[in-house]
Amino acid sequence: MAASDLVNLSALLDDAQCFALVRQHRWPEGARCPVCDSGAVIRDGHDDTQPYRQRYRCKACSGRFDDLTGTVLAGHHQPLRVWVLCLYFMGLNLSNRQIALELGLDASDVQAMTEQLRRGLVAKAPEVELKGEVEIDEVYVVAGHKGQPAAVAKRGGSDVVAGWQARRAAARWRRTSHPFSA
Ligand SMILES: [Zn+2]
Repeated sequence: MAASDLVNLSALLDDAQCFALVRQHRWPEGARCPVCDSGAVIRDGHDDTQPYRQRYRCKACSGRFDDLTGTVLAGHHQPLRVWVLCLYFMGLNLSNRQIALELGLDASDVQAMTEQLRRGLVAKAPEVELKGEVEIDEVYVVAGHKGQPAAVAKRGGSDVVAGWQARRAAARWRRTSHPFSA
């Protein structure tokens, strides 16, 4: 497919569908507050410049947020539909280079986008980073190794590394398999 065909494909996606898709994947069971994780949220109008971007107010902490708050899609210079298409192509296992070709973007831009999407849609949100099992596992393994080199050597360093790699692989699987989930 040539880049010129893709312009048409991109035009077929409307913003309403894109935002609905983000909501569906981010909050399959209804919107939750990104600050306190409460499900007691009420709709609170729409974004001033993006009419399909739903705003919410949290009844628990009075926080305000919208569909993209705390996601990698917020405040990015690429339109939402480009991100959605990028995600779609990632699902088809296209390489960064192929995606760049299809979207008419620089390969470096696409690489940054796919890396962000693989880390998860809401990877930028601090409370999600705190829950990240990968980081916690890595810190734990490194700290254990530093603090108890003898114990690590006794147990066999390769076992520790193997376990660590297995956890990393599992975490990577979770991230890449569920790009929209936290
Ligand atoms: Zn809240």
